[in-house]
Amino acid sequence: MTIAVYPGSFDPLTLGHLDIAKRASSIFETLYLAVMVNPHKSPLFTVEERLQLIEESVADIKNIKVVSFPGLLVHYASDIGAKVIVKGLRLVSDFESELQQATMNRQMLPSVETFFIPTNNHYSYLSSSIVKEIARHGGNIHEFVPAHVEAAVLQKYK
Ligand code: ADP
Repeated sequence: MTIAVYPGSFDPLTLGHLDIAKRASSIFETLYLAVMVNPHKSPLFTVEERLQLIEESVADIKNIKVVSFPGLLVHYASDIGAKVIVKGLRLVSDFESELQQATMNRQMLPSVETFFIPTNNHYSYLSSSIVKEIARHGGNIHEFVPAHVEAAVLQKYK
């Protein structure tokens, strides 16, 4: 049984994230969709809010577990017995930092491999930050996030 972990800030979850999560969950037996707790960032949504929004988005996918973790990803991956770290790759600009993280993670925990899944090209330019930026200025984010996430974002900027 291969356990995989898909980590991110998910502040908030977008359709790009969801696409990667769905595709990864069809390959691995269990996928932990893991919200990283980073005390140095000031997110729009609390960890609990993000977990709830994600839960609602993946409720119909039985092999996805929605969790959060503090600290280093490799420690968490080791705790849950994950063999794979899943990352979505959008543009070439993602590649450099993702390769650095994957290399450092493998140095710290050689038993875990990072698998990159290329984004659905419809979502290549989509990020949580751009969604927040659009919404903050009153733009329409309907085609970028699930409907309940759209409602939650609009509520924050009301
Ligand atoms: P963001 O860059 O949107 O703030 P996160 O830090 O939450 O995203 O990213 C978590 C993971 O999801 C990373 O591997 C990132 O490359 C991937 N990801 C983010 N947005 C997309 C997208 N639109 N398509 C595919 N993968 C994505």
